[in-house]
Amino acid sequence: MRSKIDLGDVLKYVDGQRDFAIELYRGFIPIKALAPENGGDGEWDRANYLLGVAKRYFDEVRVMEAPDNRVSRGSRPNVIALIKGLDASRTYWVIAHMDTVPEGDRSLWSYDPFKATVVGDTIYGRGVEDDGQGIVMGITVGKVLRELGIRPPINYGLILASDEEVGSKHGIQYIINREPNLITGRDLVVVPDAGNADGTMIEIAEKGILWVRITVYGKQAHASLPELGLNAYRLGSELTLEIDRKLHEVFNYEDPLFIPPRSTFEPTKVEPNVGNVNTIPGRHVFYIDCRILPKYGIDEVLKVIRDTANNYCDKHGCKVDVEVVSREDPVQPTSADSEIIKRLSKAIRIVRGLEPKLLGIGGGTYARYLRARGIPVAVWMTSKETAHAPDEHVFLSDVINDIKTVVASLLTEP
Ligand SMILES: [Zn+2]
Repeated sequence: MRSKIDLGDVLKYVDGQRDFAIELYRGFIPIKALAPENGGDGEWDRANYLLGVAKRYFDEVRVMEAPDNRVSRGSRPNVIALIKGLDASRTYWVIAHMDTVPEGDRSLWSYDPFKATVVGDTIYGRGVEDDGQGIVMGITVGKVLRELGIRPPINYGLILASDEEVGSKHGIQYIINREPNLITGRDLVVVPDAGNADGTMIEIAEKGILWVRITVYGKQAHASLPELGLNAYRLGSELTLEIDRKLHEVFNYEDPLFIPPRSTFEPTKVEPNVGNVNTIPGRHVFYIDCRILPKYGIDEVLKVIRDTANNYCDKHGCKVDVEVVSREDPVQPTSADSEIIKRLSKAIRIVRGLEPKLLGIGGGTYARYLRARGIPVAVWMTSKETAHAPDEHVFLSDVINDIKTVVASLLTEP
């Protein structure tokens, strides 16, 4: 074990990890890890492979199983690996997820989505970014510490969680409910699952998310005799625009921390109605996706939607139901003064020579469940934002820079 660590030497050593990163990608990208909701059998095969790799570099590796009868193994695996630090009372966690979404339309891919194809500095495949980049980064940081014989100032921990793509119930949510003291407010947490192209964006806040389903009931009739019916499609369309206008008018506050700075309200999905052209539909079902600034409560938004719908239908003789499909209440952002943000910011300046920006986003990561418990979290990586798209890819130089940045933020004082 070394007593004095020279950061420059360590970062140089990270430069030599390119081949390891490629080998690791080629090992796990071909092993599918899909949630049952996406037609898969869970993450166990991929977890077993990664477990084997992690055991080579970490002091302790274990699996926390979240019961799930829908998959053949009866549970979803969450890998927890630890390298003991000089101060073993605190941990610097990297939390990545093993599951991916399906490849989508195969004909849109230029390369086999399950092969991890390297072309110059680019590696292609489903899950290489989301969240393979976090997996490779998290494991390689452990490898570098182990091979250089570095005992970090505090523990270095890696969590490879399941079930992120469909809600984290069997992943991070299960972990923090099962072991509420595993990750505490004194720990430092990086979630490498969102970022920007030059690695300068640190996400410290997320909007609340509300999905509502609105059903308008009219009366079905022959299209040639509209006076005998009540066209739910027409009423529903008018109501869509009315709610849309109202939400944008009431919730118009702008917070420059967020991209975009306003709450967003988008009518999205419409359910199929009648099967033929000459019938007036008696029922129209549509959905609205709402991303709400922490300044507002989800109940306030719901009230405006319900009041607008009820007023409209009172006036037009229809009936209406408003149901919540999904809600994630906004949580307190991570403070810009928290230690993880300061450490990571300093490391970005050292490794990238760029000034980091702290931002909020409308998307949801599992940082929200940790922040809800008062744990400061930096959501960060370098990302070209190709997640879920055909030809998902990452630049290997970005992967290497991200490993350097995490190593630097772990080893240097803020
Ligand atoms: Zn992800």
